[in-house]
Order: sequence, then C-alpha cells, then structure tokens
Amino acid sequence: DGALTSAQVHSFDRRTNDLRKENLELLAELRRALMNEGLAFYAQPKARCRDLSFCGAELLVRWNHPERGFIPPDQFIPLAERSHLRGAITTHALRSAFAYIGSLNIEDQPADSRISVNLSGEDVTDERFPERLSGLFRSNPNFLRRLELEVTETALVRDWAVAVPVLEALREMGITIAIDDFGTGYSSLAYLRDIPADTIKLDRAFIKDVVLSSQNQCIVRHAIDMAKEFGLTSVAEGVEDEATMHWLCDNDCDMFQGYWFARPMPQADMLSWLDTKSS
Ligand code: C2E
Ligand code: CA
Ligand code: CA
Ligand code: CA
Repeated sequence: DGALTSAQVHSFDRRTNDLRKENLELLAELRRALMNEGLAFYAQPKARCRDLSFCGAELLVRWNHPERGFIPPDQFIPLAERSHLRGAITTHALRSAFAYIGSLNIEDQPADSRISVNLSGEDVTDERFPERLSGLFRSNPNFLRRLELEVTETALVRDWAVAVPVLEALREMGITIAIDDFGTGYSSLAYLRDIPADTIKLDRAFIKDVVLSSQNQCIVRHAIDMAKEFGLTSVAEGVEDEATMHWLCDNDCDMFQGYWFARPMPQADMLSWLDTKSS
C-alpha cells in the first residue's frame, strides 16, 4: 500500500528540517544584505514601438552574495515574501526608483516615461502601503508621476476587496499600475473590466515564440486589442530579436522590453547607455 515506513517519514522530516534551516540562514543573510546595501537594483530599459525611443525602465533586484555569488530573484523573492522581510525589499526598490527618476532626468522626458517597480503580493493588500510610499517620495512628490508599480493578477485576486481601494489610492497619487505576467494566472478575464490599472505586461511565455506560433499570435493579438478597448497601455516583455519586435509593432503593441533593446544594467551604466541611444 501507499503508507510510508517510519524510516521514510524520518528521512522526510530530516530533509524538510534541512530545508528550513537553509532557508533561515538565507533569510538571515538577506536581512544583512538589506542593511548593508547588499542588494542592487538593475534597470532594464523599455522602448516605444512607435519610434523605438526609450520610455523608462523596469527595476530588477540583484543579490550578489559574498560566498554563493549571484543569486537570481526567483530564488529569494518567494522566500522573502513568506517572511518579515517582504516589506523591506519593496522599500529598497522604491528608494532606488526615486534615485533613478532623479539621475536619469525622467521628468524632462515625454509624460509616458516611467520607472517601474515590482511589488510583492502583500504590498497591494496592505492598506498603509500608499502612505508609506508617499513618505518615501516626500522630498519630491512630483516623482510619483514618474513611477509605475507592477502587480501580478494572482496577488490582486487573492484579496480583491482590499487591493482595489489600495490601487485607487496609488493612482490618485499619480502612480500608474501595471498588471505583470498578464495571462499566466488562472483568473477570469472579467477582472480586467473592474481593475484600477493602466498597463498590461504581456508575459514572455507568449512573446518568445510569437513569430513561429500562430496560437501565440492569436493570444497576443487579442490581449493587445483588449488592452486598447479598455484604455490600457500594452507592454511586451522578453523581446529577444528584431523579428519579434517587428511583429509586435505591426500588431499595435505600445511598448516592449527585452534583450534585443537592452539587458538589465546597473544604475552606473544607465546614463552612458542613454547617451549612446540619444546621440
Ligand atoms: P518579471 O517581473 O517578469 O521580470 C522580467 C524578467 O525577465 C527579469 O528576470 C528580466 O531580467 C528577464 N528578461 C528581460 N528581458 C528578457 C529577454 O529578452 N529574455 C529573457 N530570457 N529574459 C528577459 P529577473 O531579473 O531574473 O527577475 C525575475 C522575477 O523576479 C521578476 O519577473 C519579478 O517577478 C521578480 N523580481 C525582480 N525584481 C524584483 C523586486 O525588486 N521585487 C519583487 N517583489 N520581485 C522582483
Ligand atoms: Ca515585472
Ligand atoms: Ca513580467
Ligand atoms: Ca514574467
């Protein structure tokens, strides 16, 4: 039968304990990294389909661990989100966004240029989040008009009743809201009608083979059409080649990002990158 022997149970317990111990160590190190500026926020530029001009950037966290080397966000963000550290990463990301908006002179650029920050699931269901954010931008509240916040539909749908007023408060502050990884969740599309959002980000899963797969073409075309119908901006992510860029632009997508236009880069490299783009 399927019952476990006591040796199997014991070995399972030991493994989950090891896992727990490893996670606790990782969390302790992450906390140290957060206190010592050990996390960096790289920026990946976005472009307008219309003229391939720069229209802001998405901030992506990077952890350069002293022993383990570079740890990608997928390996510590989910862990951090289940811990007391979840708010701290967002706070660092928002401070970094404030610095980017200033140093890249985003305010001198067309009005749709923004710096985007990925929120964790808990931020959108925290009623005090908008106030905390406005505190972080207190020394220049105008910068809030140059900030975009990316939230996943999974995070929204989990606690819809709280998320909606939080998003409304954020938008009243001049912030725009992007729905990240659009189409990858299992929620009904009907939520798009009611969600206070400005942008949808089309997931790389649909973009990467769009030139080859007529099914992906169908999905992406409909997502772009639906965005237009609802007055939302569409942004494609993970554009790695020129053919994909052309397909998206021919099909009325508004903006895109991906290795073809630019890879994520440290803040120190952004200014010189922008210089080469505009000269
Ligand atoms: P995401 O928000 O969907 O971010 C896009 C991911 O695609 C990034 O991975 C980016 O480096 C990668 N990417 C961009 N262009 C291309 C491309 O052309 N080809 C390919 N193959 N990949 C591309 P990254 O930086 O490893 O981030 C992974 C995920 O970690 C993000 O997915 C986001 O969910 C999360 N994350 C990153 N930074 C933060 C943060 O500051 N806070 C929170 N809460 N989550 C973050
Ligand atoms: Ca994102
Ligand atoms: Ca995304
Ligand atoms: Ca994604």
